[in-house]
Amino acid sequence: MLSNSLIELDREHLVHPVISWRGHEETGATVLEKAQGVFVTDSAGHESLDAFAGLWCVNVGYGHESIVEVAAEQMRRLPYATGYFHFSSEPAIRLATRLAELAPGDLNHAFFTLGGSDAVDSAVKLVRAYYNFTDQPEKKHFISLKRGYHGSSSVGSGLTALPVFHEGFDLPLPWQHYISSPYPYRHPEGEDPERVIRDSVAELESKVAELGADKVAAFIAEPIQGSGGVIVPPTGWLKAMRDACHRLDILFIADEVITGFGRTGPMFACEGEEITPDIMTLAKGLTAGYSPMGAVLLSEPFYRTIADNAKANAPVGHGFTYSGHPVSAAVGLEVLRLYTEGGILANGQRSAERFSQRLGELAEHPLVGDVRSRGLLAGIELVTDKTEKTKPPQELGIAKHLAKHGYANGVIFRAFADDVIGLAPPLSITLDEVDLMAERLTKTLNDILDIPEVRDAI
Ligand code: PMP
Repeated sequence: MLSNSLIELDREHLVHPVISWRGHEETGATVLEKAQGVFVTDSAGHESLDAFAGLWCVNVGYGHESIVEVAAEQMRRLPYATGYFHFSSEPAIRLATRLAELAPGDLNHAFFTLGGSDAVDSAVKLVRAYYNFTDQPEKKHFISLKRGYHGSSSVGSGLTALPVFHEGFDLPLPWQHYISSPYPYRHPEGEDPERVIRDSVAELESKVAELGADKVAAFIAEPIQGSGGVIVPPTGWLKAMRDACHRLDILFIADEVITGFGRTGPMFACEGEEITPDIMTLAKGLTAGYSPMGAVLLSEPFYRTIADNAKANAPVGHGFTYSGHPVSAAVGLEVLRLYTEGGILANGQRSAERFSQRLGELAEHPLVGDVRSRGLLAGIELVTDKTEKTKPPQELGIAKHLAKHGYANGVIFRAFADDVIGLAPPLSITLDEVDLMAERLTKTLNDILDIPEVRDAI
């Protein structure tokens, strides 16, 4: 009864992110009520293994009392402190310091945001300041990857290269440009990793040449494209693109909102390829979803350039009421402690082997064309013909069937519109839970195969 009235109220009053508003009115909400470990329970009492860590963010898993305690203690002592007017708070200072210790190279300076979209937005604005302060005001153009996702702010949505974020919103903006995604499975010349990397570098070079070498500000990319369908580039791609940015004299922004904090194995994906970007955007795993927070990490020379070139003692006009919020910062510090001293990163690395093995077995399934993963981040691409890599016809609505059957079978994953299953379980997942996830996923794929229209299509 309670659950029905909540669903009604949701329908009446709550506008949901990135969803068909009309479609949601018809479908109604699934109201989540509680969670523990890797399991979430809805208001009807149905329990599911959350193989998507909320929205690729609850990396430590649900139900950590130690996080609850630090948040409560911080709220009691100092629930809010502005970072304006030279004020600061201990959690924000310690979190910035810890990030500087953990992040690769000289990413020594953290500007805190509320999430990933405003981290990207801040990065763009600060890049603008960087070039204006160094008398290169012509450097205005940004290049990102097709299928990239960089948040949904007015500016970030244009760097995001997914149609629903553009259509109806007058985006992209004239200074936003794209190059092809490093997508081995669908690379026009085949899956050879060297070729994929070479072509990606060549396309960046020719896009910069086309726009004018002195007009391009930065290249922004996710080390693994998440919302675009979990596209895992070949090892070496990130380093090759970073080197190309150096050669082309443009800044490199690594958007590690999903890949940060152990998602791909190391603490940051950039660390895995031994590179340091000029700017790194972070969110999600920073507080593991227990409290909202993002960050922009700035390299030493980038930070110094703005600090030394801004008009003497004039404010750098960028900041939010909740930049460095002490409760979120305290949560972030405890979450970072859990990754390292709490053994969650190490657990994730251990479970990633079983994850990769169990997903590998799914490659045999008649509907599965490609299985790609790194660490505990995976994409499973469905096809109706494995040799021809034929995408399922849109009218089959496989993504919708997947989400429905998956949930009924007790596993939550992301069903992308172009028939890719995205998986990103909490790094705290045990080996047995990985097996359970794989069993429920297999059952879901078999259920889809049992739908007569799907069977007819293959
Ligand atoms: N960048 C990337 C790579 C992301 O995946 C996301 C969120 N999915 C964002 C930015 C935006 O983050 P948020 O939703 O916290 O604004």
